[in-house]
Amino acid sequence: MAIRISDIAAEEALLDVEAIRADFPILDLVRNGNPLVYLDNGATSQTPRCVMDAIEHYYAARNANVHRGVHYLSQAATHDFEEARKKAGRFIGTPLACEVIFTRGTTEAINLVAQSYGRTHVGAGDEVLISYMEHHSNIVPWQMLCEEKGAHLKVIPINDAGELDMDAFERLLNERTKIVAVTHVSNALGTITPIKEIIRIAHSAGVPVLLDGAQAIPHMPINVYELGCDFYAFSAHKMYGPTGMGVLYGKARLLDAMPPWQGGGDMIMSVTFEKTTYNTLPYKFEAGTPNIEGAIALGAAVDYLERLGMNAIAAHEHQLLTYATRALQEVPGLTIIGTAKEKAAVISFVLESAHPHDIGQLLDDAGIAVRAGHHCAQPVMQRFGIPATTRASLALYNTREEIDALVAALHNVNKVFG
Ligand code: PLP
Repeated sequence: MAIRISDIAAEEALLDVEAIRADFPILDLVRNGNPLVYLDNGATSQTPRCVMDAIEHYYAARNANVHRGVHYLSQAATHDFEEARKKAGRFIGTPLACEVIFTRGTTEAINLVAQSYGRTHVGAGDEVLISYMEHHSNIVPWQMLCEEKGAHLKVIPINDAGELDMDAFERLLNERTKIVAVTHVSNALGTITPIKEIIRIAHSAGVPVLLDGAQAIPHMPINVYELGCDFYAFSAHKMYGPTGMGVLYGKARLLDAMPPWQGGGDMIMSVTFEKTTYNTLPYKFEAGTPNIEGAIALGAAVDYLERLGMNAIAAHEHQLLTYATRALQEVPGLTIIGTAKEKAAVISFVLESAHPHDIGQLLDDAGIAVRAGHHCAQPVMQRFGIPATTRASLALYNTREEIDALVAALHNVNKVFG
């Protein structure tokens, strides 16, 4: 569903944040005598006890390889692994397990599409269209493909607020464009891109659309069928699940026609030295022993998020974003980078008095974890003429008191460096 977060933000925030915080043991940590304030959720989110329990249960009661054994453990592990696939599919709105490919994360999912779909469909002189606000994961795989094929990477510009220039997008789209690959939410700016509009325009030109959902997946309900996107990539560790685990959603029709990109066990039907025939979806794209506990833990994260409700999460985070934006604007010398009308709970900023790395260090001394740097989005930094930003990225367990602590620590940065 292409929700506008501001539309659902009017809903009463239904989250019992205090109870939720008790689900995350790490939030009890104390740093330099201060309670941990974790505001680096865009890099990776923290893990609730139920996800840790799922991993432990797998090793304590299920540990075996999947799809191979006739014995009990292998069958039980296979059952839980495939249930997790169904849960991941349900979470993004597809009832078809064959459309859910398990990957190492968003990065691998995008590489899969570039290497399989891209190498089949992109030739010399063709174009791949991305945007200025992409994470390096949604730039470099396409750049590599274009270099190999003699194709061209085209880039949709953004305005000073960090919004896509949709007129430029329409101008850039042409008969040579073979795929549009854009982010759903910018990790560096927080911008929610108008994906429904992007998909409508691209599809009217017959061009498929890949969405990088890494930063959208923890913040809002996603329904790939309602969106109509062709590919959707996301990582489990940004949605309270484990690292090294992710999903590529693809339309079955497209995935079916794509060649495999890695060869090995599980992705084959039969092998002789003369010829190999490939397995059906989704296994055709899952060579080798998969991240079994990662998939099962992703399923547990989905259960957790569904229990809380993605609308309630979005409403809570939107309230927090509004509160934080106002509070940060009161800090002398602070400029927010990324002021799009539609934003997820990510706030990048620069401070006149100090470099982002110094800010990050001083905040860390106060127990506050933020990100300082280019956020793997160097072209965004170039666009705004800055080397780096400090980024506070919020999650469902963050509170107004934590924002207050951030603001107080930034006043202190001004005192130290001012
Ligand atoms: N895309 C975006 C927008 C991201 O923010 C990130 C990670 O920060 C990625 C892709 C890459 O995700 P991963 O490292 O989990 O593959």
